[in-house]
Amino acid sequence: MISLVLVGAAGRMGRAIAETTAVVPGFKVKACVDQALHVSELDGPEWGSDLSRFAAPGDVVVEFSTAAAAVQAAQVCAEKGAALISGTTGLTEAEEEAIRTAGRRVAVLRSANFSMGVLALRRALNAAIPVLATWDVEIVERHHRGKQDSPSGTAMLLAHEVAMRRGIPAAALRHGRQGRLGPRPADEIGVHALRGGSWVGDHTVLLAGAGEWIELRHVAQDRSAFAHGVLAAAGFVAKASPGFYTFDAVLS
Ligand code: NAD
Repeated sequence: MISLVLVGAAGRMGRAIAETTAVVPGFKVKACVDQALHVSELDGPEWGSDLSRFAAPGDVVVEFSTAAAAVQAAQVCAEKGAALISGTTGLTEAEEEAIRTAGRRVAVLRSANFSMGVLALRRALNAAIPVLATWDVEIVERHHRGKQDSPSGTAMLLAHEVAMRRGIPAAALRHGRQGRLGPRPADEIGVHALRGGSWVGDHTVLLAGAGEWIELRHVAQDRSAFAHGVLAAAGFVAKASPGFYTFDAVLS
């Protein structure tokens, strides 16, 4: 039985992970950490706002919260000897580095997207890019109106993977277009963020050539799409040596 400590437990992802854990054998939620008030249920996991009260060796801390809470969770995991799954997006490079640093002491797995479908989309895109070397690439993502960061971490991951495969700098990303910009440069990657309603997560990669185009699209209909991947990742880090891992490691 793998013990999970959920950070951001009262949030959209925290609640989805708790619901999925209840129906997947081999996992239990040991404790829930959040700043938001929550009425503890009888016989349910303990709630609190201080992760260091709960994290212990053998636990897997799962954080979907804020950038500051993600960095703090990484520090607590390194001190307490608990493994970490980190899913918060929109971190600065310094914050990303602080999380990677915890991987020197404990197993840390971080991903901008824990869905199997997005992993498959990334692999399909990586196969298409060398075949369609001169085609224009545009990425369109949609998320709910409450999302804090734009573009999504997943859109940035997809864009950076295309840029890396084409050998073009991250500066070649074009975030939206306005005004008299002239013809589209060949080495540009367009990234467009739409916000509204309750969209859970929708990513489309458009590849446009002369007289033809293709579209690779993933739609997360509900957050269980991420929660199942999170539990697979928790099973992985529970047995892994200290180090920094990405979601690709779970299925390799
Ligand atoms: P949310 O706002 O619904 O939930 C965040 C929760 O974190 C809130 O309940 C808040 O009270 C809590 N929180 C804030 N500061 C805290 C602290 N210091 N300690 C403990 N809890 C704290 O957000 P959400 O929709 O659940 O998303 C959370 C993050 O996960 C976002 O960055 C989002 O982009 C990301 N996300 C990642 C994936 C993925 O697959 N990697 C999937 C969905 C969402």
